[in-house]
Amino acid sequence: MVTTAALAIATTGTPALDTGTSRVASLVVVTLTPASLGGLRDATGLRAAELQQMQLDRYAGTVLDLSGVELGREASLTAVAARERMMPTWSRACPPCLRRDGVWPLWWRLGIAAVCPLHRRLLVDVCPRCGVRLLRGASGSRADC
Ligand SMILES: [Zn+2]
Ligand SMILES: [Zn+2]
Repeated sequence: MVTTAALAIATTGTPALDTGTSRVASLVVVTLTPASLGGLRDATGLRAAELQQMQLDRYAGTVLDLSGVELGREASLTAVAARERMMPTWSRACPPCLRRDGVWPLWWRLGIAAVCPLHRRLLVDVCPRCGVRLLRGASGSRADC
C-alpha cells in the first residue's frame, strides 16, 4: 500500500510529515514495484517515466549500486543503504537552495552529496534553525523553519 507520506516523497522528493510509524515504504523513494508505479501513476496523473526519475535508482550503475535490493522487500534496503551511504529515510539539504527553490533534489539523498555546487557550502543534516534532523517523518519538524 502506498501511504500519503510515501506518495508525497515520491512526487516531490520532500521528506514529509508522517502520522504513521516507520512502516512508510522506504523503497518508494529508491525504486518502484510495477504495482506501486501503477498506483502512483493513477494517484498523481504523472507519467511512469516521470515517477521513475524521482527514484534513487535513476543513479543505479553510476554513483549507486543497488544490487541486493529486492523489489517489494524493504528489509533488503537496510544493508544496501548502509553500504552505499544513501539516505532513503532522511536527506541532507542546502538551506539557500531550499529558500530559493523550495525543492528537495533527489541527489541530496546520495552518500556522495556533501557540497552544494551552486552555493559552495556544505549540505546540512539538521535544520540550522531548530536543530531537527532532516528525517522523513521527523516529529518536531516545524512548518515555519
Ligand atoms: Zn545551494
Ligand atoms: Zn527547523
